Amino acid sequence: MRHAPLPARRGSRRGPDVALISYIIQPMADPIANAPDAPPKRIKRTQGFVEEVFEIIRADIMALRIPPDTRIPIGNLVRELGVSQTPIREALSMLEALGLVTKKQFVGYCTAPKLTRKEFDQLYEIRLLLEPYAARCAAERMDTQELEELCELARRMEPAESETRATYGRFADDDSELHARIARGSKNRLIEEALSRLHTHLHIFRLRFHSEVTTEAFAEHARLVDALRRRSPGEAEAAMRYHIDKSYARLVPFAE
Ligand SMILES: [Zn+2]
Repeated sequence: MRHAPLPARRGSRRGPDVALISYIIQPMADPIANAPDAPPKRIKRTQGFVEEVFEIIRADIMALRIPPDTRIPIGNLVRELGVSQTPIREALSMLEALGLVTKKQFVGYCTAPKLTRKEFDQLYEIRLLLEPYAARCAAERMDTQELEELCELARRMEPAESETRATYGRFADDDSELHARIARGSKNRLIEEALSRLHTHLHIFRLRFHSEVTTEAFAEHARLVDALRRRSPGEAEAAMRYHIDKSYARLVPFAE
């Protein structure tokens, strides 16, 4: 479902930095939502922009501006984005395919609930089986350019001094990208696909919004990327295992 490329939006590689939509629950104000130079509030074009609607809603879900298990009111989206129901429904079904949105009878579209404790444990169990091994392989098999790009990605994930929900959402996207690149670096397509199907970042970053998550992960990534750059399989494997163990410990209190 590809459409013509959309113009870049100010302040984000993948989506807007501001909440464009009024959801039923908005427990915390986004400090930059009211910035004087915030981008226009409505989508101007009237067709061919399902992906843009998709990105807006996805960014709001990932930045926890729409909490888990919350109804997404299509009527509000229609008014605030200035578009018809059709592209919104299409975007929501794309989000449904990713597992970020569910359709409930008599209620409509809702954000997916948080992971249960059991699902959370199972997710980390398989991550611990696959990702340290993928990192070990990647230390031996990634080419120089792939390694350089990985280092660059890890560097730009340095947390900003004041973290907002928008930067948190971007960190989640970058974290996903970093882990996906290492999985790809294992050069084992089956490992790469198995990890990709878990949609790990879509789930774990919705458990909690806290700067501890990004600050600690940044340091752990630095150690991991350093081991990869030195092409040390044993250290890369250990660093990935350490990062996943720590991530588990950070988030397990928030899995129900
Ligand atoms: Zn990570």
